[in-house]
Amino acid sequence: MGIASINPATGETLKTFEPLSDAAISGAIDRAQQTFEQYRDTEMAQRSQWLHRAAQILTDKREQYGKMMTLEMGKPLAAAIAEVEKCALVCRYYADHAAEFLNDRVIPTDAGKSFVRYQPLGIILAVMPWNFPFWQVFRFAAPALMAGNVGILKHASNVPQSALAIEEILLEAGFPQGVFQTLLISADQVSQIIADDRVKAATLTGSEGAGASLASGAGKQIKKTVLELGGSDPFVVMESADLETAVATAVTARMINNGQSCIAAKRFIVQESIADVFLEKLVARYAALRVGDPMDANTEIGPLATPGIVHELAHQVQTAIDQGGTLRYGGEPDSLKLNESLKRGNFFPPTILSDLPIDASIVQEEFFGPVAMVFRVPDLDAAIRFANHSPFGLGASAWSQNPQEIDRLINEIEAGSVFINSMVKSDPRLPFGGTKRSGYGRELSEEGIREFVNIKTVWVK
Ligand code: NAP
Repeated sequence: MGIASINPATGETLKTFEPLSDAAISGAIDRAQQTFEQYRDTEMAQRSQWLHRAAQILTDKREQYGKMMTLEMGKPLAAAIAEVEKCALVCRYYADHAAEFLNDRVIPTDAGKSFVRYQPLGIILAVMPWNFPFWQVFRFAAPALMAGNVGILKHASNVPQSALAIEEILLEAGFPQGVFQTLLISADQVSQIIADDRVKAATLTGSEGAGASLASGAGKQIKKTVLELGGSDPFVVMESADLETAVATAVTARMINNGQSCIAAKRFIVQESIADVFLEKLVARYAALRVGDPMDANTEIGPLATPGIVHELAHQVQTAIDQGGTLRYGGEPDSLKLNESLKRGNFFPPTILSDLPIDASIVQEEFFGPVAMVFRVPDLDAAIRFANHSPFGLGASAWSQNPQEIDRLINEIEAGSVFINSMVKSDPRLPFGGTKRSGYGRELSEEGIREFVNIKTVWVK
């Protein structure tokens, strides 16, 4: 497919790019290394000023960047603009708090003085996905640059314009050349970067396959990685829940980003006594969703990012039906009533499947699109058991008004986060990451900025 912006709503190719040569990659790593030698000694206050400026640029140009993202990967324009604003927020958050997170931490011992000092590692490689083209990158870049590291970005091949824009924003904000570089390269050029001695660590957000490939390359070189991979988040609804709010939130939590979010709710696990009502309400809300041109302010669900995702999703829905699931709503891409201009777009209808056997193999897969699977469980024990019956462990949303139930849901669900009576979301102030095959390490918050630093113990007699 190559590196190209292709409008997913129309199929129109907007721009194509040639991948960098191996020599150009090596040149970029040189530049990064030379820059790091000075950048590591810049004052925190200076870095903070640059990052605040980046936040201001993002705020000022949010519509321009939002439109760029919508054209490249199809999310509704309002969501794209909100994403740019969230990037400004994470920049401001780290600009304001990095110094406090990375200050020397004195720990009294029997030494004259003992403390922990946090020092940058050097060049960090970031391999990022297309689904949140700005947010995924800024949530890496803001803490990494504040910590004194320099970054190299390999972005997904279908969002090259967003990738280039991010480097430009950081340069315009004042960061020196070489502090953050976007390399337009293919996935198979990543291994040479991670093998390069000058590159000290890597972070990847994406699929399990990509994560495993990067991490094994890094492992051979004894380099640290942070992996944010897939998810099949449970959304547990108990009889005691506020059902109306739970159903309304279920739709938002499944449909965010046209259904292509790692932390979208994907498995709806509902107590038997309320399952029929839940399903009925869910179908009614799905039927009211407006699918169409993501540039149109009325559109709630835009196209999926690539034709490949549509094919994969259609295949998964068919497999789910073959394995005993009932199609409750949607499922047929041809059933969508779209304008002529959108006929070549990657649209998939909001779809609901129910009553799949819990042990069906398809239940173990991530559905990356607007497809909800609804399951019935008799009680809390079964709900928790089934919530955990997944190779993934990213987030979980659970709905109950019973304190004992809430306590057990918090304690017993195996996931990087549990949101009670609320949908899973990321917030710069809170750590974000997964367990099991959803990956390891944390982004955001105080935890995130400490992933790519040397935590140096100092003992002075
Ligand atoms: P993907 O194919 O893994 O792509 C992600 C990035 O990895 C792209 O830049 C891609 O480059 C690169 N890549 C692919 N194969 C690689 C390899 N063997 N070595 C090195 N880099 C490689 O992921 P996707 O399917 O587009 O994205 C969706 C996945 O990301 C879902 O599973 C989703 O749940 C996950 N995700 C997780 C989080 C989280 O925070 N946990 C957030 C968002 C998305 P090319 O584009 O050039 O192939």
